[in-house]
Amino acid sequence: MPTSPDDADASLPLHLIIVDGLNPRLLAQELEARRLPALAHLISRGALLRATSVFPTVTPTCLASLATGCTPAEHGIHGIVWWNPQEERYVSYWPAPQTLLSGTFGQVMRDILQNLNTSHLARSAATVFERLEAAGIDSACVNFPISRGPYQRRAHIPVLMALLGSLPARLAMSGPRRHYAGDLLRPSLSLPRGVLGRYGISDARATRFTRRVVKRHEARFVLTYLPDNDLYSHKWGPMNVGRELHAIDRRIGQMMAAYGSFDDATRQARWIVTGDHAQSDIGGFDGYSVNVYRAFRDLLPVPFGRKGLRGGPYDLAIAPNDRSALITTPNEAARQRAIAELLHWPSVDRLIGREPEGWFRVQNPDTLRTLRFRPRGPWQDVRGGTWDIEGDPGMLDLRPAGSVLHDGVFPDALFRIAGSPPSADLIVTARPGWEFSTGFTMGHGNHGSLRAEDSITAIISAGVTFPAQPRITDVLPAILEAFGLERPGHDNGHSSGAGPGGEPLQHPTLP
Ligand SMILES: [Zn+2]
Repeated sequence: MPTSPDDADASLPLHLIIVDGLNPRLLAQELEARRLPALAHLISRGALLRATSVFPTVTPTCLASLATGCTPAEHGIHGIVWWNPQEERYVSYWPAPQTLLSGTFGQVMRDILQNLNTSHLARSAATVFERLEAAGIDSACVNFPISRGPYQRRAHIPVLMALLGSLPARLAMSGPRRHYAGDLLRPSLSLPRGVLGRYGISDARATRFTRRVVKRHEARFVLTYLPDNDLYSHKWGPMNVGRELHAIDRRIGQMMAAYGSFDDATRQARWIVTGDHAQSDIGGFDGYSVNVYRAFRDLLPVPFGRKGLRGGPYDLAIAPNDRSALITTPNEAARQRAIAELLHWPSVDRLIGREPEGWFRVQNPDTLRTLRFRPRGPWQDVRGGTWDIEGDPGMLDLRPAGSVLHDGVFPDALFRIAGSPPSADLIVTARPGWEFSTGFTMGHGNHGSLRAEDSITAIISAGVTFPAQPRITDVLPAILEAFGLERPGHDNGHSSGAGPGGEPLQHPTLP
C-alpha cells in the first residue's frame, strides 16, 4: 500500500535518489533473493510501485520529466539527440567518441553544461529546485544534470574537457542552494577524479557528496543521481547486472547510514528511489544496430553534426534515440517520401506521425493498419485521461473494456505519444532486439521505445504518497505534496472531467 501523508512529518528531510535505468524485473528478482537490504528496508517502511516513463524513453527526456513533472512536449528536452528547428541543428547531450570525429564535442558540452538548463528547458517547466527554494526549502543537487535553480555557481571545467571543447576554464552553472557536480562543482578538499573517473559523475562520488549533505544538515531536499546502472545495463544487458544492483543497494545503504542506522534513516527522513526508464535486450543477429544516416535508399538526411534543413540539399533530419528515432521533415512531400521509406525498414516496430488538429497516427509496417487518436474524447485510459480514437486500437495493443482502454505491451502509450517532442513530425520505434544509432552500438541492452521492457521502471517510497499506477511525472507532485505545497496544475492530455469510474461523454464505438 502507498504510505499516507499522515505517516510522515512534512518537516523531515526528503531524499530523491534516481537510479538510471532501474529495471523492475531485476529488482524483483534480487529482492526475492534478499540481496538488497537497504531497498528492502525502505520498501518495508513504504511501497514498491511500477511506474511508466515518458517517450522517447531516453535519459535526458526522462530526467527532465522527473525534475519538472512535465512531458517532453512541455519541458523542451526532446531526446538524447534532437533536431532544434530554431537553430537548424542537432542538439546532443551525449559526448560520444564520434562527436570528437565530427568536431561537435564543444557544442555537445555546451548543450549539456549550459543550454540544457537555460535555452532548452522551458521557463514554464519549473524544476523541483526552483519550486522548493521558492517555498523556503533548502535543496541540494548531487550530480544531477537538470539543476536549474535560483543560484549561479562558477564551475571548474577540467583542462582536457576545456581544451577539446574550446570551453572557458570557468562556466556559470545554475542550481539550488547546495550544488555538487562531480569535478566541476566539488568541495574544496575533495580531489578531482579526472577523465578515467568520469569526472566524478559516478555513483561513488554521488554517495560521498550525499553523505556530506546529510552530516552537515545542508538541505531538507536532496536529489542524488546514480548513473552507473544504465551504463552497465547497456554493456551487459538489463538482466545481467545483478552485482551492479547490489553495489547500488550498498551505496544507498551508505547514504541511509549517514543518519545512524537504517531505522534512523526512515525515522529521521523520507525517501524516494526511482528509475527513469528500464532497458530491453538487444542484438544477437546481424544488422540489429541501424546507422540511421546510412539506412535511407532515396532520401538524404542531414548528417550528424551538420546544420541546415530548410533550403539545403537535405530531405530530412533524423535523431537516433536508442530504440526510437525522431524525424523532422521540411515539407509535406518530404514527409510522405520519408513515410514510404520508413515503412520498409525491417527495424521499425511502429511509425508515429503528428497530424493537423492534434491528431496522432500510429502505423504497424507489417499490416499497414492504423490507429488515429487525440486527447479528450469518449474513451478513458486507466490513469484518468480521455481520448478520441479512430481505427485499430490493436496498433498500440490497447484492450477496450466498456469505455476503458487497458494497456498491453505499450504501457500508457496514448499519453506518452501525446507528450512526445513537437520538434519531430515522425517518430519510429524499434522492434524488440533492434536499435537506432549513429554507427556505434551500445552493447547488449538499450531503451527508447514504447515497449514495456524499456518503459516500466520502479518507484520505492518511504514516507511519500504516490498514486497506485504512477508515471515518472508524478514524482514532482508527490514531493511538493510531501512538503505541504500545492501540486502544479497540468493539462497532460488528461480530461478534467471523467476519470476511471466516471461517466463517459458518450458511448464510444470503434470501426
Ligand atoms: Zn541509457
